[in-house]
Amino acid sequence: MEENKGKMTTPDYIAREDKYGAHNYHPLPVVLEKGEGVFLWDVEGKKYYDFLSAYSAVNQGHCHPRIVKAMTEQAQKLTLTSRAFYNNALGEFEEYVTRYFGYDKVLPMNTGAEAVETAIKLCRKWAYKVKGIRSGEAKIIVCRNNFHGRTISIVSMSTDPDAYRDYGPYTPGFITIPYNSLEALEKELVHPDDDVAGFLVEPIQGEAGVFVPDDGFIKKAYELCRFHSVLFIADEVQTGIARTGKMLACDHEEVKPDILILGKAISGGMMPVSCVLANDDIMLTIKPGEHGSTFGGNPLAAKIAITALDVIKDEKLEENAEKMGVIFREEVGKIKSDMIELVRGKGLLNAVVIKPMNGKEAWDVCMTMKENGMLAKPTHEHIIRFAPPLVINEQQIRECVLIFEKSLRECVQ
Ligand SMILES: *Cc1c(COP(=O)(O)O)cnc(C)c1O
Repeated sequence: MEENKGKMTTPDYIAREDKYGAHNYHPLPVVLEKGEGVFLWDVEGKKYYDFLSAYSAVNQGHCHPRIVKAMTEQAQKLTLTSRAFYNNALGEFEEYVTRYFGYDKVLPMNTGAEAVETAIKLCRKWAYKVKGIRSGEAKIIVCRNNFHGRTISIVSMSTDPDAYRDYGPYTPGFITIPYNSLEALEKELVHPDDDVAGFLVEPIQGEAGVFVPDDGFIKKAYELCRFHSVLFIADEVQTGIARTGKMLACDHEEVKPDILILGKAISGGMMPVSCVLANDDIMLTIKPGEHGSTFGGNPLAAKIAITALDVIKDEKLEENAEKMGVIFREEVGKIKSDMIELVRGKGLLNAVVIKPMNGKEAWDVCMTMKENGMLAKPTHEHIIRFAPPLVINEQQIRECVLIFEKSLRECVQ
């Protein structure tokens, strides 16, 4: 196939994936081959603004030169040792990331789902070793419409049939409550069996369609958990690393989670890197041999993550996300289109709810935006997420709002 590369066009690439790849995604029909900052290019050379950022994994922008440099330098020295031995980069990352987020210890993994699994194991271990819950009885409270990944245990706590249907038998031990309901949380926390170990929550529900809870929800939920000796576990895989205008979405309410889960942008999109942060009373309940990952904590990931986090601070991406987000929501709010039901979000994690018109839905709007040079993807039927790399500037944001407006107009014509 390689020798035909010059002759292949978008439909050819799509047909090949369709033929040889599992059909577990429904991508927008665009085939990308290059990225730089806020831009992507397809195989025909057409340039686009990226408004997905690989689900917020490339907050630092595509192929950030500093991160690429760290990656290529380390790739030529040492990439993987496993944790059977020490390597000289892991400790540097561990010291860096624990200071950065203010925790005693970190446990490195690869994907977001693995970090969530790690947090669940850690929470359960703590429940038995510290809280004294009867063996095998620990419960974790989760929220309706959550998204924490795709493993069996994680889909066991999903309320989305697409995510869990036909994948049973499911992992027990989860209690589901409505998102953003302190009443429901409190009710489960005063459970008569006193076997609740943790509350796992996304500070903003990203995949569900960027649902921002009421002001004060995170703070009060944290305080309730504390009062009942239940661990507050924040899944910041999507909301973390400056996406919402603060380093962590929990920072908006000055909450420091007992267990913090990070992934996606911690590597700036270079490779899968995730981790769980906690203090010693929780983290040291897991002993040698009781959990691990062949690739977790590899020296390549360590060097990449340090640089990716450095870039966030050095380029003041928290501040920029906050400012650009305000402009985005303000400008979208001014668009006169009957297709816009509402715009919501924080920082540069935003969503527009689309009212279908003339048989045109969010998907059609995204297709028209693609034609006009802007890539976004619907999440669920009527919601479009707008999450560009955090390096986007004001002129670019304004241009993109115009592209969105034009696309809405063309869509209903
Ligand atoms: C993407 C995501 C995950 C899963 O991360 P993967 O790297 O895809 O396994 C978990 N939690 C949240 C909130 C996410 O957005």
